[in-house]
Amino acid sequence: MIYLDYAATANPAEAAVQKAGECLQKAFGNPSSLHRMGLYAEQYLTEARKILAGSLGAEQEEILFTSGATESSNLALRGAAAVYGKRGRIKIITSAVEHASVRSTLDALEQQGYEIIRILPGQNGRFQAEDFIKAADANTCLISMMLAENETGRLLPVPEVFRKIRKKFPEIILHCDAVQAYMKIPFRQKDLQADLISLSAHKIHGIKGSGALYIRKGIRLTPLMTGGKQERGLRPGTEAVPLIAAFGEAVRIMQDSIPERLEQTQAKKEYLLKLLSAVPGITLNSDADKNYSSPYIVNFSVEGIRSEIMLHYLEQKEIYVSSGSACSKGARSGVLSAYGIPDRLADCAVRVSFSETTSQQELDALVQAVAEGQKTLIHRK
Ligand code: PLP
Repeated sequence: MIYLDYAATANPAEAAVQKAGECLQKAFGNPSSLHRMGLYAEQYLTEARKILAGSLGAEQEEILFTSGATESSNLALRGAAAVYGKRGRIKIITSAVEHASVRSTLDALEQQGYEIIRILPGQNGRFQAEDFIKAADANTCLISMMLAENETGRLLPVPEVFRKIRKKFPEIILHCDAVQAYMKIPFRQKDLQADLISLSAHKIHGIKGSGALYIRKGIRLTPLMTGGKQERGLRPGTEAVPLIAAFGEAVRIMQDSIPERLEQTQAKKEYLLKLLSAVPGITLNSDADKNYSSPYIVNFSVEGIRSEIMLHYLEQKEIYVSSGSACSKGARSGVLSAYGIPDRLADCAVRVSFSETTSQQELDALVQAVAEGQKTLIHRK
């Protein structure tokens, strides 16, 4: 089996699974309980919170645990809009390539009367920081930008935009979906200058159903749910202690190797690009320049063969890739179109995403299978 869909989800690390198991067996108490079992469960939460805070250069009180990045971004955007989007400050600026969790949330806010400005990339597929800055004004309450885009791996100029906005309009709330960058591309909260950062556990070898939202001290949010006082009342409900403990463990084992994994993955990406360039009829949808893209994601189109046809052909050979964003389930998300990629090619897009364990042999097998598929499937048409 060759798994090349790590941007959709990653296998849980053994250490993370062990941590969750340990927690399920030994620390099954409710962290809100006043007795020792409660305290013991709470210690797992505190440990994970400490690890996540450390990884961002943040304080423990600034980390809020959620069920995943979708919830984190919903809370960040809806919660901040409710507090800060008042008295005419109804403008929200975002990129045109955000993940559905941000895109659809902003669509919903638009229905409620907020004005959403969606910034497009330039003709070369790269975003200009100036375009975001020019769009901001005194009526802007919020800017939401992702750090590494999940379909092609392009990097957005978040640090530059947020730094300049912070100086010019300090009252604007800055949110970043950092899901595909966390533990892959080095960054700290202070590099981004973000007020809110969405993170997900299952993309970094944690367990599904766990995420976090960094909330800068002093930022106020309206909670999405009412209930108990857990997570400072911002996320009521008994915490998923085993999943949170596993999230912390995944971060703990990944955080020291970010630069070296990045370098190794860059070499793998370059190797894959070289192999793909030898196959006629393949168009690269990612940015080949390492300054503008994450090496963990490579997106290409095999002209004439629809994504799902190629996907299932590869699946028969036990090679697992994606047709783009896993959340879009085969439907065109609009992200590739935003880069100016014609529908004819967008409909034939294949997304390959790596982990630290991906080998050159796996990439050889992938490209060989794609080339074979191209011949067989075109022949069949
Ligand atoms: N943001 C990005 C960039 C993603 O790639 C994903 C997952 O595909 C999410 C958010 C949603 O994360 P979760 O599955 O934790 O809700």
